[in-house]
Amino acid sequence: MEYIYGENTTSFPNVAADPMTGELTSLLDINPSQLEIIRNERPATPPPPSSLTDHMLTIPWSSSAGWGQPKIVPYGPLALEPSVTVLHYAQTLFEGMKAYRDTNGKVTLFRPDMNMKRMNTSAARIALPTFDGEALLELIKALVRLDRHWIPQLPGYIGTQCALGVGPPNEALLFVICSPVGPYYATGFKPVSLYGTVEYVRAYPGGTGGYKLGANYAPGVVPQRAAAKHGYAQNLWLHGPEHHLTEVGTMNLFVVFRKGDGTLELATAPLDGMILPGVTRDSVISLAKDHASRRQVLDGLPEKFELVERPITMKEVQAAAENGSLVEMFGTGTAAIICPVNKIGYLGKDIIIPTGDGSAGLGPVSRVMLEQISGRQFGTIPSDWSVVVAE
Ligand SMILES: *Cc1c(COP(=O)(O)O)cnc(C)c1O
Repeated sequence: MEYIYGENTTSFPNVAADPMTGELTSLLDINPSQLEIIRNERPATPPPPSSLTDHMLTIPWSSSAGWGQPKIVPYGPLALEPSVTVLHYAQTLFEGMKAYRDTNGKVTLFRPDMNMKRMNTSAARIALPTFDGEALLELIKALVRLDRHWIPQLPGYIGTQCALGVGPPNEALLFVICSPVGPYYATGFKPVSLYGTVEYVRAYPGGTGGYKLGANYAPGVVPQRAAAKHGYAQNLWLHGPEHHLTEVGTMNLFVVFRKGDGTLELATAPLDGMILPGVTRDSVISLAKDHASRRQVLDGLPEKFELVERPITMKEVQAAAENGSLVEMFGTGTAAIICPVNKIGYLGKDIIIPTGDGSAGLGPVSRVMLEQISGRQFGTIPSDWSVVVAE
């Protein structure tokens, strides 16, 4: 099957497949008008980042009835049978996004439609039920509105975590929890070092690396520890005999090369099924393409500029670092937005990656991308990527 991310995902219906015949039956979808809210009688005072907020959203699913009543209830533990398959076979997926309080005091979400789409794509990959993304988004907005006083007053946000996991294979539970997260860079953010990992792989052709499935993440813990033991912050996931650069830890990866004629080439690996289709990745690509085509010129980027989705090899990066044509390298993801890289430990040697001397080591392209994306998240740059939850 050809790997197509983002296409025909909304058309996956919420259906039950007969295990014997494979015949599909349509089931009830998520219905926001049925929302019941049970308020937390003992709300907490928003403490410092990384605890959880007062409420959570739950929506049950069963193969006989489809999606049931959505409820916002006090945050608390789930009761599960020890036999639930999620604990044995990891039939679970997640999404992560943030709610921002922008500079005008509005509470917003950043491109949440992309998360809804990706969540459906992930669900379809492991035969969990799909759903109407707009309906779930409406419910997430209600949850964020209820707990919006948890968003830090300083530039900060609450992270919303959506997850879909199963009990027995004919039941599922979709839940959304929130926690305050401070500004990512507050603790002094600096470029990271990467360990070019050749002992382990994160993803492979035909596998599940392109989906946000729980099963993809536990196997990354031991390699992460190994990278730390070697003195590096993150794994640089390489693939195949040519050591293609795929992702960094749980971020997408961008490399900037200066070509012979002076053009800056911003390159990232293509969505070949091994790459998680990041919302931040897509945002960087879209901004870069608009600049390259002069549709929307970005201050600070040169005119000679191009964006390419293509395979990138370690040989190429090593050669570019040696001959001075490597400009910068950075990871992208919702948590940090942009994370510059300063070196790669590769087959026993360190490859030094140029970083900017200005704020936090951001290079010429990553600095502009961080400004552009965070400006849209915090409302200083108007954009339809920002979806208002509360005025
Ligand atoms: C979540 C994730 C990303 C980043 O995706 P965003 O939507 O930009 O947050 C990149 N790689 C992996 C493996 C991820 O799990």
